[in-house]
Amino acid sequence: MKYVSTRGRAPELEFEDVMLAGLARDGGLYVPSSWPEFSPKQIAAMRGASYAQIAFQVMAPFVGSSISKDEFQALIDQAYAGFAHNAVAPLVQADADLWILELFHGPTLAFKDFAMQILGALMDRALTKRGARATILGATSGDTGGAAINAFAGREQIDIFILYPHGRVSDVQRRQMTTAPEQNVFNIALEGTFDDCQAVVKALFNDLEFRDSYQVSGVNSINWARIMAQIVYYFSSAVALGAPDRPVSFSVPTGNFGDIFAGFVAKKMGLPIEQLVIGTNVNDILVRTLETGIYQPQGVNATYSPSMDIQVSSNFERLMFEMAGRDAGRIVALMNDLEQTGHFKLSDNEVSPMRAQFQAVRIDETQTFETIQSVYQDNHYVIDPHSAIALAAGAKCLQKGVPMVALSTAHPAKFPSVVTKATEENVDQPARLQAQLQAQERLEILANDVSLVKEYIAGKTRVGGTAG
Ligand SMILES: *Cc1c(COP(=O)(O)O)cnc(C)c1O
Repeated sequence: MKYVSTRGRAPELEFEDVMLAGLARDGGLYVPSSWPEFSPKQIAAMRGASYAQIAFQVMAPFVGSSISKDEFQALIDQAYAGFAHNAVAPLVQADADLWILELFHGPTLAFKDFAMQILGALMDRALTKRGARATILGATSGDTGGAAINAFAGREQIDIFILYPHGRVSDVQRRQMTTAPEQNVFNIALEGTFDDCQAVVKALFNDLEFRDSYQVSGVNSINWARIMAQIVYYFSSAVALGAPDRPVSFSVPTGNFGDIFAGFVAKKMGLPIEQLVIGTNVNDILVRTLETGIYQPQGVNATYSPSMDIQVSSNFERLMFEMAGRDAGRIVALMNDLEQTGHFKLSDNEVSPMRAQFQAVRIDETQTFETIQSVYQDNHYVIDPHSAIALAAGAKCLQKGVPMVALSTAHPAKFPSVVTKATEENVDQPARLQAQLQAQERLEILANDVSLVKEYIAGKTRVGGTAG
């Protein structure tokens, strides 16, 4: 399987190089040169298989010959063995046609673990094989950082630097990152928003000299391997609810468009998905874009669902590439518009198929709060604010007889203050969280300045530093 950049000016690469690169050298995002497809018969055969078995089948076409079957299955088994539920991604019924897909049983209690655990194993393997090292650089709105640090801490070939917006992640999220004692872990609290963190990371990736000197690698959802791992639970849950014999819909709490793009790919691969619902909080750039065709980032508001407090939705570029008939020149033009004028406008030909494939629903703070409250009152089931957005958005789009699966992306214990207020109960803390909350924190507060961040990384990473 070859991969191409959405901006068309980077070399075509195989899976392993795409994974190690993160962002393409032309600033674009890598996508497979074509989408693998499963027949209904192949999908039906996934019934009754374990999560790890389905994961192997869904991901195998994307990794190609870069890894042997047995070794790949073993890495997958290991990646999901540590999840605190035997089903790995269990479904819970919320209402007649409404289901909750629990994606928070991993080590850091958010769905980011699904991709990060396997990515950590695959990267370590690729680097060891090549006798190489990497400096991993990532921006986080809260959950990616913890999941990445859990997956990469202590790995000999890797140093990891995570930028998070100072004062804008929850206490639990921060501690999950800053309490890692391993010496290859560095936390940078940037004085800015998540979008600022993401912009610094992108600037450092586009500084090709810096990137090459320190073998910089990315684990944000710009990294194709993360999207790949997230396609799996669309298959596992849809099959459990009757696919391919009946269609299933999904509602996804969306920030950087990674998770819902994985759903779009699942559909391309032959999974019968009826609706893909984009749930946003009041940071609703995606809702506005689908309505007007104009993509225009505005200021970011802090909400109950901080992991979605995003206005620059990176993976949207992958969707635009598909909708523009894979015309990379068009993507370059749109991205230039965005840089020069602060917005771009999609043509009717581009936005109409988006409207046909997606519905976008904005859930405000009151609706989020009331959803946590009512789910608790009706079912005695506690959900986190991100999952509440998925559930509320999904409920608005229900079609009779078509199961709607709301992705529950985080455990409520990660966001105790709003959850406690809405349920008037203390949130149960899983044991794996309690220890982290006590431990010593390590972090560096830095101004929102690319050169300061660059200097800090250069001074800490164990990777060479000799250009070329
Ligand atoms: C990251 C995150 C999201 C948003 O996912 P994207 O792939 O960025 O759209 C939603 N909920 C939680 C809890 C998250 O951590």
